[in-house]
Amino acid sequence: MKHHKFAAFLAAAALLAALTSCAAEPAPQTASERDVFAMDTFMTMKAYGDGADKALEAAEARIFELESELSVTEADSDISRINSAKGAAVEVSPDTALLVGAGAQYWQDTAGALDISVYPVLREWGFTTGEYKVPDSSTIAKLLKNVCGGEISVSGSTVQIPADSEIDLGALAKGYTGDEIMAIFRENGVSSGLVSLGGNVQALGSKPDGSDWRIGIKDPFSPDENMCVVSIADKAVVTSGNYERCFEADDGKVYWHIIDPADGCPADNGLVSVTIIGSKGLQCDALSTALFVMGTDKAQTYLADHTDVEAVLVTDDGRLLYTDGLREKLDITGDMPSEVIARD
Ligand code: AMP
Ligand code: MG
Repeated sequence: MKHHKFAAFLAAAALLAALTSCAAEPAPQTASERDVFAMDTFMTMKAYGDGADKALEAAEARIFELESELSVTEADSDISRINSAKGAAVEVSPDTALLVGAGAQYWQDTAGALDISVYPVLREWGFTTGEYKVPDSSTIAKLLKNVCGGEISVSGSTVQIPADSEIDLGALAKGYTGDEIMAIFRENGVSSGLVSLGGNVQALGSKPDGSDWRIGIKDPFSPDENMCVVSIADKAVVTSGNYERCFEADDGKVYWHIIDPADGCPADNGLVSVTIIGSKGLQCDALSTALFVMGTDKAQTYLADHTDVEAVLVTDDGRLLYTDGLREKLDITGDMPSEVIARD
């Protein structure tokens, strides 16, 4: 009898051990990671799941493919061929046609705030080379005559712009690249992933433990620190900030790389940082630039009418404005006063 009881006790203990080991936390998955320097940007990617290494390999190849099509400096890129075509129609890749078409569409949708043909003005300020200067007003006026967002046409795989105009996709390319990486991650069976492409962060799914990714948003007045953290899954978080590419001129003023097509000068309409959060990287990228140009009032009106994205705006007088959909998702870590942007 005694023996029987002891055997039963051992069996019960073994069962308990088996059950406990089943119930124990699964070992944390390790991420596969890859860093890439492309599009003038230091990019980091991490992916979890069986296909992670293959996905990262394919994502890297895709980034370089996009760079070679969209670069404004590589002489044989689609964009360089469009810019030197003197008004002729140019045959381009599906990526380029899609992005130039998106540029034309967002020009319309944002009342000209996003204008991919602002490039010659941007170059005159030195933002393309780093040889910064404040152009004189007659030069800007002359260059503005060829800023022509409404005259860009895409038909199938051909793009046509006016003879004296030039375009660049700096405001859109990284957002689209993020979308393309997410598609590659999905196709390769990645269950969870995160990419950071300069001011663009994009997540596939949630963290491997099922919790949201927590993405810091920089304080534009102190860019080494975050002003808030947003919790997301399956979303892009794209920021346009006045601190990203800027210079102080002899006049003591600071000038930055987002140009207001209305006057050819760095957009100075009350905002110093715009973050857009949504499910499409391309849309978030286009709108982060466009709402920065629109400024405090028009950006809030736009957001009231477009509830498919959320936003965090920072005004030049130090207020943090955010859309109501972020109430449960935003941790404000700095001491900036905040207000909710009203939407119907
Ligand atoms: P982002 O960092 O996405 O706001 O994009 C800024 C980049 O877009 C600049 O570095 C320029 O290459 C380009 N850009 C600047 N101003 C505009 C504008 N108003 N519309 C379209 N592209 C612009
Ligand atoms: Mg942008």
